[in-house]
Amino acid sequence: MSYQRPKGTNDILPGESEKWQFIEETARTLFSRYQYQEIRTPLFEHYEVISRSVGDTTDIVSKEMYDFYDKGNRHITLRPEGTAPIVRSYVEHKLFGPEHTNPYKVFYIGPMFRYERPQKGRLRQFHQIGVEAFGSNNPATDVETMIMALEFFKQLGIKQFHLVINTLGDQKTRKNYRQALVDYFFAYESQLSEDSKRRLQENPLRILDSKDKADQKLVADAPSILDYLSPEAFQHFTQVTTMLDALEISYEIEPTMVRGLDYYTHTIFEIMSDNPQLGAQSTLCAGGRYDQLVEELGGPDTPGFGFAMGIERLLLVLENEAVELPDLHSLDAYVVNIGANTNVEALKVTQAIRDAGFSADRDVMGRKAKAQFKSADKKGARLVFTLGEDELEAGMINVKAMASGKEKRVPLEAIYSDFAQIFEEMS
Ligand code: ATP
Ligand code: MG
Repeated sequence: MSYQRPKGTNDILPGESEKWQFIEETARTLFSRYQYQEIRTPLFEHYEVISRSVGDTTDIVSKEMYDFYDKGNRHITLRPEGTAPIVRSYVEHKLFGPEHTNPYKVFYIGPMFRYERPQKGRLRQFHQIGVEAFGSNNPATDVETMIMALEFFKQLGIKQFHLVINTLGDQKTRKNYRQALVDYFFAYESQLSEDSKRRLQENPLRILDSKDKADQKLVADAPSILDYLSPEAFQHFTQVTTMLDALEISYEIEPTMVRGLDYYTHTIFEIMSDNPQLGAQSTLCAGGRYDQLVEELGGPDTPGFGFAMGIERLLLVLENEAVELPDLHSLDAYVVNIGANTNVEALKVTQAIRDAGFSADRDVMGRKAKAQFKSADKKGARLVFTLGEDELEAGMINVKAMASGKEKRVPLEAIYSDFAQIFEEMS
């Protein structure tokens, strides 16, 4: 009997995992420059934490949750996204308190779970890198956070992407816009998809996010939220665009863009890949402002801004754009050992190299010299050390630099006393 991984999940194998490490490391370094610190919340949460924040009528909550009742009959769900759990944690630990810095800035990296139809760049267990900044109303926070996301893509070496922004305004804006949408879509009700007929009653804004072709045609001519902004919402959005202009960041405004989560207010944005191969999975990064969410989950009135991006989609883009990633699995030295008597010395040599802070490997399969050299080559070893019984007797070892072909005999003692010196000299 053998098994396969569950549908919509992936095993991240060696060879692939180095790419993940590179992406994660790039994020950690960049985010820390912006003073974000890492937060790790549980992979599961109380169902209500997600349903109240993301919204009962969203696809995520109504169709995609991995929820269950645990043995204590608690309604639990695997987390489908990172923001709601972090807001729960922010409120629970009173991170808004005076002993904490304001704004309070955190980032996260980890798996999320959604019961979706698996496709390229769409999984059931997928991974997000995201950030949240709590406490700032300043549109400069919106702008610097979007710039940080753009900078991240640049640092990864991705070239084909663009920034799209919109505003969802404040409560007053939403109320007026909701009515305008109801009036507009009501006239076309019979042409709407079944899902959108339901959305028209429950949450008309959600129609704008419909993936249905017929719905999308109607959405194209729907009223624009920009015509319904309250003076405050208009001012916030104008400041955001003014600042983007001042920093010479190019962007598009897409007035019918909404997000798949209900908690957003004011600025929302997406970073889209221009690579045609991503199809409906072209959104690499999505986020925005959520000024009511902390209060919604029982905390004080606190604004927030954040984004999340899908690591699997980043990897697809890196592959499609043929971006060269640095080799995180390089091998400094390979020790070829010939003859049974060299086993112990080969072990000592390999350990000494590792102790000196270099990566090293050796043959442990008792293979013939030729096979060992092949193995060193395949692993891309920079230096190959050869220890035969003659060398051992003489207290020497042979070293060859693979790139230059330079070869030399050195005393074994030199490896034990100062490997770095040999490495320097040979490479
Ligand atoms: P989409 O419209 O593609 O379904 P979404 O609006 O549901 O995305 P968010 O919930 O805002 O996406 O998540 C932010 C990012 O996380 C997305 O832009 C995408 O890169 C990634 N993402 C979301 N769902 C998945 C998934 N099922 N598989 C892989 N990545 C995903
Ligand atoms: Mg989705």
